[in-house]
Amino acid sequence: MSFSAAKVRFVCFDADDTLWKNEEFYRQAEARFARLLAGVLPPEQAVEELFQTEMNNLETFGYGAKSFTLSMIQTALHVLPEQKAHQAVTEILQIGKDLIAHPVELLPGVRETLEKLSGKYHLSVITKGDLLDQERKLHKSGLVPLFNCVEIVSDKTPSAYRELFVKLGAKPEEALMVGNSLRSDVFPALETGAQAAYLPCACGWKHEEMEEPAQPPYLKIAALSDLLRVLL
Ligand SMILES: [Mg+2]
Repeated sequence: MSFSAAKVRFVCFDADDTLWKNEEFYRQAEARFARLLAGVLPPEQAVEELFQTEMNNLETFGYGAKSFTLSMIQTALHVLPEQKAHQAVTEILQIGKDLIAHPVELLPGVRETLEKLSGKYHLSVITKGDLLDQERKLHKSGLVPLFNCVEIVSDKTPSAYRELFVKLGAKPEEALMVGNSLRSDVFPALETGAQAAYLPCACGWKHEEMEEPAQPPYLKIAALSDLLRVLL
């Protein structure tokens, strides 16, 4: 690939499943949800129904834990008999609250990597989802002082990246976007002319999955600390 560290001055990070664990807590919440529907649907089907509801709601509710909770409620109301719905909704609200209250668990090497890059590069976070939830996770992560800029957007489109680069005063080719999603982090950033590093996560979300090209136009890394080899 044509990765060139020499041009990079701005390093932009995705947050969920790039800096800290996220999807595995959603999978755990889904498993609790599926247990609530156990009398009516087998677990795989409950999860599939929920996914379809989430996809149908994406444009209206956007990404994040609150939207996920609303989709669980909608799915439960759709499939459960009326006499079971009230109790299920009560439990779903608790599943959503537990998801939001979950402690932030940084991925291995994240803090050390950011500390080593900090001061040498302009570091920013660009993340999508619910504003309050993302702000809370950032504060709980303890990483905020290491970043020059934090940007929370409703969706990570090429124009969202262009706007970020304008705000940073960065030429796209001076920027490196690092993230676990080809769909949200890597390809839209490449489209603007920025470079990208792909850090696959073991626990991905079906919506973010994409097939990898045979000749990737991005840098693929196995851990965030691999950035140190190319950037320092
Ligand atoms: Mg992510």
